[in-house]
Amino acid sequence: MSTESKPTPVNLVSRCLITVRQWFDSDYFPEGAEVVRQRPERFEPRRCLPFVFLHLGCLGVVWTGWSWTAVVVAAALYFVRMFAITGFYHRYFSHRSFHTSRWMQFIFAVVGNTSVQRGALWWASVHRHHHKHSDQPEDAHSPRISGFIWSHIGWMTSSKNFPTNYDSIRDLAKFPELVFLNRFDLVVPAIFGAALYVAGALLARFAPGLETTGGQLFVWGFFVSTVILLHGTLFINSMAHVIGGRRFETQDDSRNNLILALITLGEGWHNNHHRYMSSARQGFYWWEVDITYYLLKGLAAMGLVWNLRAVPDSIYSEAEAVLKAKEAV
Ligand SMILES: [Zn+2]
Ligand SMILES: [Zn+2]
Repeated sequence: MSTESKPTPVNLVSRCLITVRQWFDSDYFPEGAEVVRQRPERFEPRRCLPFVFLHLGCLGVVWTGWSWTAVVVAAALYFVRMFAITGFYHRYFSHRSFHTSRWMQFIFAVVGNTSVQRGALWWASVHRHHHKHSDQPEDAHSPRISGFIWSHIGWMTSSKNFPTNYDSIRDLAKFPELVFLNRFDLVVPAIFGAALYVAGALLARFAPGLETTGGQLFVWGFFVSTVILLHGTLFINSMAHVIGGRRFETQDDSRNNLILALITLGEGWHNNHHRYMSSARQGFYWWEVDITYYLLKGLAAMGLVWNLRAVPDSIYSEAEAVLKAKEAV
């Protein structure tokens, strides 16, 4: 055993300092990001702390209580931030399924960042990897390979999955503002949480009829809304590869699931998405509710996004052939 690896007090302190610095600087790896990415998948308690903190924060409702104002703010923030994740983190940054301006991509990278799902670049790099190796041993979050709990949240505790693979997102890494948000990915959530507290305190002072406080808006708008948003998003990695119908015989276990589509504003049509990931819509038919797509159409009508990629006719022909084959059985 080398001297460095002995668990001396000095080594433990230095390891703690490195961990703390990594919470604030997500690109800091003294041993090199590539070395970290080659580590085996494993559950790491120290990486659970941010999630434990987020979940424990919800218990704050015991002290702050609730009000309709706080609940409405939490729900509205869930909706807006889920759209930032589905419309931009996923369909734009990960799949480039439409075009937009540099300002719009920055704004939605910031809004998505308030979700505490790290930066858009890390999110896109992990997601591109998922599509490349779906439900194969290399997939970071596959229920088939690693079980449901691991695919849902366990994989996020493994330091192997922590570094951003900048090689897989070179198209995004050329924007320094996006790299900054990705590297210091706790800055935006910290400002967001503080802003909620201040907003609640101002409402308590100037609009007492709304019956809220700084602490209450902070707990409901930040902790409660963010935790529900986190699990809603993570259900696409876990549940959407387990429960639901399969229109297309893809190599993975992806499913179409209406409930998940409603929770995630359209991402539940995951089997459709795995069959054709480049489309801006994931509900391929009018009856497959896809609120993200309707909102993107709205932004396109306002000229804020453009060139929404459609589902090709060949994919619709394939879907019709599958349907006819099933009816014939
Ligand atoms: Zn998937
Ligand atoms: Zn995808």
